[in-house]
Amino acid sequence: MSRFLDEKYQPLVAYTPGEQPRDMRYIKLNTNESPYPPAPQVVAAMTAGQVESLRLYSDPTAKGLKEKLAAHYGVTPENVFVSNGSDEVLNFAFMAFGGKGAVFPDITYGFYEVFGDLYGIPYEKIPLKDDFSVDWRDYCGLGKLVVIANPNAPTGMTVPVSEIEEIVKSNLDSVVLVDEAYVDFGGETCLPLIAKYDNLLVTRTFSKSRCLAGGRLGYAFASPALIADLEKIKYSTNPYNINRLTLLLGEVTMDCNDYYADMCANIIRTRAWTAQALERLGFTVLPSAANFLFARTPAIDGGTLYAQLKQRGILVRHFTNPRICQYNRITIGTPEQMETFIATIKDILGGTP
Ligand code: PMP
Repeated sequence: MSRFLDEKYQPLVAYTPGEQPRDMRYIKLNTNESPYPPAPQVVAAMTAGQVESLRLYSDPTAKGLKEKLAAHYGVTPENVFVSNGSDEVLNFAFMAFGGKGAVFPDITYGFYEVFGDLYGIPYEKIPLKDDFSVDWRDYCGLGKLVVIANPNAPTGMTVPVSEIEEIVKSNLDSVVLVDEAYVDFGGETCLPLIAKYDNLLVTRTFSKSRCLAGGRLGYAFASPALIADLEKIKYSTNPYNINRLTLLLGEVTMDCNDYYADMCANIIRTRAWTAQALERLGFTVLPSAANFLFARTPAIDGGTLYAQLKQRGILVRHFTNPRICQYNRITIGTPEQMETFIATIKDILGGTP
């Protein structure tokens, strides 16, 4: 830290992303990326001409992409915001709507508390129940920014939309943000509720189910007035927030919905196979509607298992928070990768005295 950093940022503990090793030696099951490439049409869209066009700024209104998202999801372009990864729309939402404070579960996406700290927002972490489910009653009538990841991360567990609606209904004077980064892997979306409630913000990403994590593209749905607020923040920070190539690839992605539905179906099948294989080996596996599993075994400490997997060339995500430090979060890869993963687990457990 230099002596120039503003005092208010000195205590800030930044978000720690999952490891991104530069060599490709590892089977990478640690950051919930897709193991599958973007659709062939998306790959083909990246021409030399498109790269040359980078001399021009991107469209700050993202008109084409908003229209495609709106058409696919049955809303109007005025209901749509697009961002540089969904982290950016989360950032803007905390900036725009966090003034009265924020609440979110104790076990959830680690970036929420970083945004809270960044903006000096008083926030409360509400403990999940013992089984890691959300008790919706804990979030009713709070009058603060409520943030719920559904499915949640790193548990993969869902909150029924009927319960989300109760939360939204009881906080009509504050924003309820539902982070649906993983919804395409079996979650239930609360998107239809945006027509009914002007305080609901639903965020999504191209990083997981649309195989575009490195493209950095996120989006959100809400009432036109909430979207206009987010646009105000965007035009006050970075109007050209999404680069031309990513906007183009996002549009082509939306023309290939069948391909991505197939990839999600593959992941869901592989998830079921992996969960069963882990359970047979004595693991407890939380019920996941996401592209990862959260699992523990009494046979080996969570941190030790993480380290032994890494030694053998497999990266998973381990968190040191005492409530979940016996677990590891395992991204679902290809069937071949998961077979190697299970064989490696057997090898490690076999070697445990
Ligand atoms: N929300 C949740 C729950 C996540 O796990 C992630 C991925 N780390 C994100 C949002 C952000 O993803 P991205 O910025 O790549 O869209």
